[in-house]
Amino acid sequence: MTDATRETTYQCPTCRRLELFVQPQCEEGHGEQCPDWACVICGTALFVDTSFAAGEQVQVEKVRKAPRVA
Ligand SMILES: [Zn+2]
Ligand SMILES: [Zn+2]
Repeated sequence: MTDATRETTYQCPTCRRLELFVQPQCEEGHGEQCPDWACVICGTALFVDTSFAAGEQVQVEKVRKAPRVA
């Protein structure tokens, strides 16, 4: 239920560089603490524990490809 699209930069494991990540619409009720971020370039989704996000530490717990029909 966020009004604006949140965005930030993370080191994308697929692009192997710092890329812009946006927060897709949360379907799991995380609200502002939603840990899901998606790379705008390749669509790789990161699961970021927001308790670590305040610092430099970003814990990537899973990486998945967003289903996309080319
Ligand atoms: Zn990427
Ligand atoms: Zn979520």
